[in-house]
Amino acid sequence: MEKKDLDWSNLGFGYVKTDKRYVSNFKNGAWDEGALTDDADIVLNECAGVFQYAQTVFEGLKAYTTEDGHIVTFRPDLNASRLADSARRLEMPVFPEERFVDAVQKVVEANAAYVPPYGSGATLYIRPYMMGTNPVIGVKPADEYQFRMFCTPVGPYFKGGAKPITIRVSDYDRAAPCGTGNIKAGLNYAMSLHAIVTAHADGFDENMYLDPKTRTKVEETGGANFIFVTKDNKLVTPKSDSILPSITRRSLVYVAEHYLGMKVEHREVYFDEVKDFAEAGLCGTAAVISPIGKIVDHGKEILIPSGMEEMGPVTKKLYDTLTGIQMGRIEAPEGWIKRIL
Ligand SMILES: *Cc1c(COP(=O)(O)O)cnc(C)c1O
Repeated sequence: MEKKDLDWSNLGFGYVKTDKRYVSNFKNGAWDEGALTDDADIVLNECAGVFQYAQTVFEGLKAYTTEDGHIVTFRPDLNASRLADSARRLEMPVFPEERFVDAVQKVVEANAAYVPPYGSGATLYIRPYMMGTNPVIGVKPADEYQFRMFCTPVGPYFKGGAKPITIRVSDYDRAAPCGTGNIKAGLNYAMSLHAIVTAHADGFDENMYLDPKTRTKVEETGGANFIFVTKDNKLVTPKSDSILPSITRRSLVYVAEHYLGMKVEHREVYFDEVKDFAEAGLCGTAAVISPIGKIVDHGKEILIPSGMEEMGPVTKKLYDTLTGIQMGRIEAPEGWIKRIL
């Protein structure tokens, strides 16, 4: 297969139109059989449910070229089940999980020429999503839906290595208690945009959201979970019903326990404890791990001991092991790597 002539290592994190995408429609209580299409545009009625009441949920995962030249994806079954959870919460029909995984196979295969080569640092980002499509004006769920999956090649998240970032404690909340923080819905992102734009304008890379009820516990950022490393080498990850269950975080927990022999605590993390950690990072599909160097709480600075120059040593081991598993350099746990080609 002839690869597209793209400057892989200089791609940004943006949309590049690829050849094929997958579409399936839900009508009269059933999904149609679905198909690949060349058509990247969606034409919907002006009153479609997604436009009026934001009935839409999404996922994000990647395909890579491994060291031995195969194209693979990482744990797509977990994206399938998380999309199903998100759909149920917004009263949308579930797209069958095995059909989701099959659609990943079809979309990546059909766009194999866009999967960046091994070693380029670039990957193929896959975006599955669902939306209410028929006219809805009274507040209720739509009756008809579209499931779609497209992909776009994206560049290395960090050009020239992962530099520690500076984050601030946000005065805004990301998710209400008993709200929708634990699902991957566009609505959670719409309301985070003002907080991130103002954080950037004030010179911060990201927001740290605290639990909205007591404002004493660490939740997550707009699009990534936190990981912390204690001075005695334990991995600590915040637990809360309003945190999105990151697949990267769950995988790092497994890697810490089973590959690195670390103790792991998934528990409530009080903001007051953060100053005592040795290392801190953000984790998610896009960057795998972004190290955190500094956390600013209304002018008060917490300097993470691993500093502003490089990833802490434990964070680096976690990062190297997980990316090694993804790229086929390290043997993966059973079922983690789905080979496409
Ligand atoms: C997608 C997302 C993450 C990261 O999840 P991964 O499965 O690791 O990509 C974390 N937090 C939020 C709010 C997200 O939407």
